[in-house]
Amino acid sequence: MTAPLLTASGLQKYFPVRRGLLQRQVGAVQAVDGLDFEVMPGETLSIVGESGCGKTTTGRLLTRLLEPTAGKVVFDGRDISHLGPGAMRPLRRDIQMIFQDPYSSLNPRHTVGTIIGAPFKIQGVEPKGGVRNAVQELLALVGLSPEHYNRYPHEFSGGQRQRIGIARTLALRPKLIVADEPVSALDVSIQAQVVNLLEDLQDELGLTYVLIAHDLSVVRHVSDRVAVMYLGKIVEIGDRADVYERPMHPYTVALLSAVPIPDARRGRNRDRILLTGDVPSPLDPPPACRFHTRCWKAQDICRTTEPPLDELGPGHRVACHFPERGTPPPTGAAFDEPAADAVASRDAAAGGPTAGGRPGESSAAG
Ligand code: SF4
Repeated sequence: MTAPLLTASGLQKYFPVRRGLLQRQVGAVQAVDGLDFEVMPGETLSIVGESGCGKTTTGRLLTRLLEPTAGKVVFDGRDISHLGPGAMRPLRRDIQMIFQDPYSSLNPRHTVGTIIGAPFKIQGVEPKGGVRNAVQELLALVGLSPEHYNRYPHEFSGGQRQRIGIARTLALRPKLIVADEPVSALDVSIQAQVVNLLEDLQDELGLTYVLIAHDLSVVRHVSDRVAVMYLGKIVEIGDRADVYERPMHPYTVALLSAVPIPDARRGRNRDRILLTGDVPSPLDPPPACRFHTRCWKAQDICRTTEPPLDELGPGHRVACHFPERGTPPPTGAAFDEPAADAVASRDAAAGGPTAGGRPGESSAAG
């Protein structure tokens, strides 16, 4: 049986809140609270949820840009949870991150050649044929001209800058890429191109992706498995088809009901679940089931006993005392048009959130 490339066990990150002259700790933001999941080689696991659910913090824990408060991250059989910068450096070849904002993630004073060639310099790697040659090959790989080598980031569009960022990420041929909202800062017309590029590169180079995203249309298109997060916890995880076509957690059902449907007639006829109330503060999350303050199915047990993340189908785990069973999702389950159509149609449909229960409530970073 194939071993997972990455395993998170009991992964937790609390950020202390300090006040006063003595900076005493008065609380903690419970950004990530006990995640358990695996990522298999060559797959794409997407992590979705509303803004503030902890998905970006999770990405930073997996890449060890943050150290966990508790729990473990095991990469390729090695526990990397508490490795220092020196011990992590060689592992940076294998674990890379694509950042959300292509405008701020590239140094404007460096040429494209310097930016993409930086990982070789940092890792002390001399590629066959030299750095310039390797950078020009990377430019071609991501669909840019090798002649762009001496240009500066400001000379490129947003989509081209994201391609430069992706080329830098690929320089050392990593095994795992964590992509944090890689297309959300891009113009809608460019998003599908970058999504398709990431898919092509995965096929060509055998990459493993953890995709952090709020756009459920994109997630549906690119994922093998999907994990849904709410207030620092995974509430549902499973194969893409299970999560999209047979969602069991009420929060997942609500998220999917807000996915725009390109077919205006179908969109008008479906039921949309509008969650009431705001997302509670991660400083003081609700006890037991964290979703109970917004859940239309909540009962007494939901307020007193935390539901375990139980396996309710093969690889389909759900944390709910009263999971939906056999209920068709109130959304276009057959939402399987190509990414370009899906993304382009988003603006035309509904005008609602892309990953949230209330209009205008959801945003990019988690
Ligand atoms: Fe809703 Fe209860 Fe399930 Fe939580 S455990 S999602 S409150 S039904």
